[in-house]
Amino acid sequence: MKVDQHTALYAVIGNPVRHSLSPALHNAAFSATGLNAVYLAFEAEEIEGCVKGIKAFSIKGASVTIPFKTAVVPYLNEMDPLASRIGSANTIVNENGRLKGYNTDALGALKALEEKIRLPGMTCIIIGAGGAARAIGFILKENGVAISIANRSRKRGERLALSLGCEFIPLDEIKGAKGDILIQTTPVGMYPHVDQCPVPEQMLKEGMVVMDIIYNPDKTKLLKAAKARGCTTISGVDMFIHQGAEQFRLWTGIDPPVAVMNHVVKEALLKQGERR
Ligand code: NAP
Repeated sequence: MKVDQHTALYAVIGNPVRHSLSPALHNAAFSATGLNAVYLAFEAEEIEGCVKGIKAFSIKGASVTIPFKTAVVPYLNEMDPLASRIGSANTIVNENGRLKGYNTDALGALKALEEKIRLPGMTCIIIGAGGAARAIGFILKENGVAISIANRSRKRGERLALSLGCEFIPLDEIKGAKGDILIQTTPVGMYPHVDQCPVPEQMLKEGMVVMDIIYNPDKTKLLKAAKARGCTTISGVDMFIHQGAEQFRLWTGIDPPVAVMNHVVKEALLKQGERR
């Protein structure tokens, strides 16, 4: 990678970010496409100063992650209509000093699902009611999927179900719930708690499509159980790569090198696994 006086700067802003695979993903993509650009991780205490910094240093684009995806919105000049409906942005595009927010988490989940199934007319249970569940809920509803929200805390779950105009299921009553698709958006099963599964395995029926948006590990306990019961499974790695690929497209206007991005993330996850 060449770094000189013309190198364009991109960044991820969040806290924590030291575990993030986004620098590996985007730097590999810049390198593969021959772009003179570099992507760094900034661990930040607050978002307002970061937004000023993006403008002051002409940072061309940024990923925004936990805990700033909603907090960043008031500081942006413009929101893409989908990100505006969701109410959060995980991507900033700097258009000559005007900052526009996008939500590629939603697009990434949609693309990962569309690789495996045709969505219109399907029913889907989303487990969780946080930022990712909200983004996925909105984009699936707009793509003709009938959604139910299952969440641990009733208040948060009911609030998201209300804004999506859909049914709420308390998480401890999920056993009998039925859907063509199950999407798991909580941190349950994430490293180091890899022996946890957020739902009773009996509810996983042959033919269901089960997606876990956790990407570390790439095969969670839920996905292993789903596969053993004859479900089609989708890993959070697929969503992660697609959300990054959409960011790359927004920032550069060129087709993302998805195969390269896929390879570098899987290699990094493998290495992380070997180090443990
Ligand atoms: P968030 O806003 O904090 O929401 C977390 C959700 O998980 C809430 O609904 C919370 O329920 C639920 N939850 C937390 N701990 C739980 C537990 N022990 N048992 C049951 N439910 C629990 O987080 P987020 O931004 O939506 O992110 C969620 C996950 O998605 C993270 O693991 C993140 O890494 C992953 N993610 C992946 C991608 C990707 O590209 N693959 C993209 C974005 C996010 P309560 O309301 O009851 O607290």
